Amino acid sequence: MKRRQFVGSLAAAASLAACAKQEGNCEGAAAQFSETFEWSAATSWPPKYPGLGIAVNNLADRIERASGGRLKIKVYAGGELVPAFEAFDAVSRGMVEMGHDAAYYHKGKVEAAQLFTAIPFGMNYMEMNAWLYYGGGLELWRELYEPFNLVPFPCGNTGVQMGGWFNKEINSISDLKGLKMRIPGLGGEVIRRAGGTPVTMPAAEIFTSLQTGAIDATEWVGPYNDVILGLHTVAKYYYYPGWQEPAPALQCYINTKAWDSLPPDLQAIIEVSCQAITTDMMAEYTHGNAIALQQLIEDPNVEIRPFPDEVLQYLKAITQEIVAEMVARDPAIAKIHASWSSFIEKSIPNQRITEQAFLATRK
Ligand code: CA
Repeated sequence: MKRRQFVGSLAAAASLAACAKQEGNCEGAAAQFSETFEWSAATSWPPKYPGLGIAVNNLADRIERASGGRLKIKVYAGGELVPAFEAFDAVSRGMVEMGHDAAYYHKGKVEAAQLFTAIPFGMNYMEMNAWLYYGGGLELWRELYEPFNLVPFPCGNTGVQMGGWFNKEINSISDLKGLKMRIPGLGGEVIRRAGGTPVTMPAAEIFTSLQTGAIDATEWVGPYNDVILGLHTVAKYYYYPGWQEPAPALQCYINTKAWDSLPPDLQAIIEVSCQAITTDMMAEYTHGNAIALQQLIEDPNVEIRPFPDEVLQYLKAITQEIVAEMVARDPAIAKIHASWSSFIEKSIPNQRITEQAFLATRK
């Protein structure tokens, strides 16, 4: 929390305490705590969708309870208020106060935003939070969104995703050629350069596209979410790991004017609630994926397979090539990427002898 805001909250609390003891200005304190706000939040998720979508409802609910009803947020599913991928514009223009989705959906507007969702073969959940909260990542994110009148907050993370559902076997690099796959963000660019055709579409359209053969493959999230979409009933091969999204951060963003209109304690409630949603979502996915994976293991129509190492190494080399080109052509990307790589380079040796070494003992 910024010092100014923290001091503001303390001052307000002191003023209320003084008022309670009949020593202070009760009118000023009462005015600060009686102002109420009614906001709308646009998202890209299907209504009350487990994980990603429910997170926004939970966020609104926590904020309303923590603020004693002073900040009420009505959540709209993708397409209800604005099309699924247009929340960014709607919040930027001030049509709604808050948005929730993934930054990489908006790479057409601001290419560097993708780096705040995930870089393929990049950071895991712990590293992403470490970089955002302690490594300068969040400051760079705020700077990037400032011209769009948006204040961003990390708000959710799914952890390592799955590589996706395929109706074609991927046995070698050549199997990627001609592959039509739903895969957004940088992962999609990697598939394009590997000879495939990436497409982006909201969750609600994935099932039908895969069922009708309009696409050969899709990545979505992981067992918990994929089973809910029914993807296991329209594709046979379930490949891992999700090289494209090792720990995608979700984003909550608020129109700058709306943010500035809030008293410091409500701002603090939003900040803390977004952080809590990140922890909560990771717990929900870790639990839900474990249960849903069991179902998929027992399903005779599903084959769970690792990508061949040759394919992963090839995709990783393409990723490095694409990121190097992005860094060379866009100073905003170069600045964010420099901060990102400075942290991950230090983190890899530490992760190797802690999480990675420990997980290897549980084989
Ligand atoms: Ca995904």
